[in-house]
Amino acid sequence: MKFLSQIIQLAANIDFSYNKLLSILFCKFVVMNLFKKDFESYASNCVNEISMLQNEFMQLYDINSYGEWYYDHDIGAFQFKADHGKNLYFRYIDVGSFSTNTNTWNWSWDNSTTPRLVKAGLEKVRIFGATNDFGQLTTGLIEGDEYTGWEMTSISAKLLSAIGMYRIQRDHLFIYFIFTHELTQEQYDALENKSVECDVHEKGQIAFVCKHLISKEYPGFHEAFESGLCMEENDDYQAWCDECEKVRINEGKWNEESMAFAEIKIVCDQCYFEIKYRQTL
Ligand SMILES: [Zn+2]
Ligand SMILES: [Zn+2]
Repeated sequence: MKFLSQIIQLAANIDFSYNKLLSILFCKFVVMNLFKKDFESYASNCVNEISMLQNEFMQLYDINSYGEWYYDHDIGAFQFKADHGKNLYFRYIDVGSFSTNTNTWNWSWDNSTTPRLVKAGLEKVRIFGATNDFGQLTTGLIEGDEYTGWEMTSISAKLLSAIGMYRIQRDHLFIYFIFTHELTQEQYDALENKSVECDVHEKGQIAFVCKHLISKEYPGFHEAFESGLCMEENDDYQAWCDECEKVRINEGKWNEESMAFAEIKIVCDQCYFEIKYRQTL
């Protein structure tokens, strides 16, 4: 009898353990799905919310009536060109791209070829992702499908209070933009001309440096005009590295070859002087 009761006890224990295990597994399953569902429901809420805003945006600006668009990473301005009359300009953030070759989404902050000016705003999205344990917002390259691009873009649009979104196609890549505000022609011209916004110094005077000075690839600092005392009003800050100088001397001047090697970039004047002091100290 004692033996039997021991067996019953043992069976109860096994039963108990098994049930416990099942309940733990079940809880884990529920929790995992909750997280998964959490992101999916958050994303689809954003898509729904933003698609209403997007319809208004497309109608308000009559975006489909513009035949051509153009964007300038160096000043962060997106332009819709009108066949007749006024062009439209927006300040934009490059959100990322979806590749139909690899079915992957790549956040622009993970893309080294995208300038900081047009991606710095996404830091807020990343922080939101980290806080909420949404790995999709904190992983640079993720697998996805045709909806992933709009999902990520809608989330970014919501978090960054964008006024609209736009997608362009380049071969197998769909590139997604959000517009943060409209620019007037004057603001656009100012950006195009002298003043430049900088994600470190907000705004400054325009300056030009070769890509190697930005990437710190090569030393040296050669200036077109000695910056500081002797510059005339129309002289620009322009500088390049030792290697660019060698190519320039070889070519005899700045021409297509030497310009292609230098890949001149726009920076603000404060960045220019920071680079200068870094190179000449
Ligand atoms: Zn260079
Ligand atoms: Zn700067």
